[in-house]
Amino acid sequence: MTQSFPTPAAHARDLLDTLGVPARPADAGQPVRSPIDGSVLTHVAFDDAREIEAKVAAARRAFDAWRVVPAPRRGELVRLFGEELRAAKADLAALVTLEAGKIASEAAGEVQEMIDICDFAVGLSRQLHGLTIASERPGHSMRETWHPLGPVAVISAFNFPVAVWAWNACLALVCGDPVIWKPSEKTPLTALATHAILKRALARFGDAPEGLASVVQGGRDAGERLARDPRIPLVSATGSTRMGKALAPVVAERFGRSILELGGNNAMIVTPSADLSLALRAIVFSAAGTAGQRCTSLRRLIVHESLVDKVADAVDTAFQRLPVGDPREGKTLLGPLIDRQAYEAFVAAMDAVRAEGGTVSGGERLLADQWPEAFYVRPALARLSAPAPCMQRETFAPLLHVVPYNSFDMAMAIQNDVPQGLSSCVMTNDVREAEAFLSAAGSDCGIANVNIGPSGAEIGGAFGGEKETGGGRESGSDSWKQYMRRQTATVNYSGALPLAQGVRFDL
Ligand code: NAD
Repeated sequence: MTQSFPTPAAHARDLLDTLGVPARPADAGQPVRSPIDGSVLTHVAFDDAREIEAKVAAARRAFDAWRVVPAPRRGELVRLFGEELRAAKADLAALVTLEAGKIASEAAGEVQEMIDICDFAVGLSRQLHGLTIASERPGHSMRETWHPLGPVAVISAFNFPVAVWAWNACLALVCGDPVIWKPSEKTPLTALATHAILKRALARFGDAPEGLASVVQGGRDAGERLARDPRIPLVSATGSTRMGKALAPVVAERFGRSILELGGNNAMIVTPSADLSLALRAIVFSAAGTAGQRCTSLRRLIVHESLVDKVADAVDTAFQRLPVGDPREGKTLLGPLIDRQAYEAFVAAMDAVRAEGGTVSGGERLLADQWPEAFYVRPALARLSAPAPCMQRETFAPLLHVVPYNSFDMAMAIQNDVPQGLSSCVMTNDVREAEAFLSAAGSDCGIANVNIGPSGAEIGGAFGGEKETGGGRESGSDSWKQYMRRQTATVNYSGALPLAQGVRFDL
């Protein structure tokens, strides 16, 4: 039976009230739409140049105070934030569903990812360790220390509207850095809600400086303004390769640092020894889940020629059966595309496949009678006899290209022969293939998996990719080092002044 829900606008109003986002005039500012039915949820005012300036100046002032707070005490703020997030998890996830269109379980998973990174960052706050290094000079000691860096700008994409900010912000805060967040103009409400949750943690914490965390609402212009600002030593930007190509030179021109998390074009190799039932589940989740709108979504399936028809037919059947609809419905596995532009890009990509000699099954628009301004689609499977130019591009929609291979070397070459380098995987029970895939001559991606799909990373590992994916790493492992500056210090505790490398300079 179909559940009944309040209208997205009424639902969003309730959630914003519960989450503590101050009410604002319903019709002032930019409209925020729900991809569920295309309706306007509310309006959000964009920050003007003066407001952005005030937020950056406040972050810079906050840095002077925050950098000298002991790191474990900074970790206490993130611990409290994790507690507040646990309490708000269901409501924030429901808002992610309304604003980004994710199904309920994936939206809850996104908020869980925020909680996980809080736990990680709290532990990290007691482990921001440096090195001691042997000095070649008698009576000298050398050490390497990590110090706070300064305000960090986080520019985020619509498809992970809250988790990506948390990956950055939780690390930045324990590292001693204020955070200025420019969310996607398509998902400003989840940013306001997250900020309201953080404010509760800040109130409980007590003495955090004003301006430690802020949200700048706006589009490309606001992002560019932050990218240009020399008071911001690090810009962490997530989005399309197009955005990264525009932003990176702007930050580099002023010798700022950037962490770039850009587009992916992720592949799976299915070998003759693969467990096909495992592979099928991995393919369908990673190609169709989140309506193909993950940076790690599966876009290219490279299958041994002896299996390619069997695997493609099974994927096709599974795509046909996937329940598509309102992402708030418990049975729905595929929600809407974010907007009309995304749908048009999907249609154009299917046309390109046909123009290049491939065939496409699926890809129909669904539920258009019910919601003419919302864009639900059946996932599409594109069969090609060999790699084609259309497979070089990322289309942010559920379109999976399938090609055959006849030798493992050929499969590896196809996997690596795209401009992007985010995520990759091989389905095999042959240890030689698995190890070759993970070797120096194997996958050229930042993420390489064996017997799981390319999407759905855990926070404990460093996340990011090579080539046009931008080269950034964030979240786990030693990603925290990017949010700090490294200092090498030599202390002379002798009465002499020997010079390094035996240099003599006798006065
Ligand atoms: P987008 O590039 O349109 O926008 C991303 C953000 O960048 C937005 O906040 C936008 O306002 C801002 N922006 C755009 N141009 C800018 C500029 N010149 N200077 C500064 N800021 C600018 O991306 P989107 O449509 O929101 O998200 C989808 C894209 O993001 C896909 O390509 C996807 O692969 C990528 N993505 C990558 C990762 C990753 O970790 N690698 C994660 C999520 C999404």
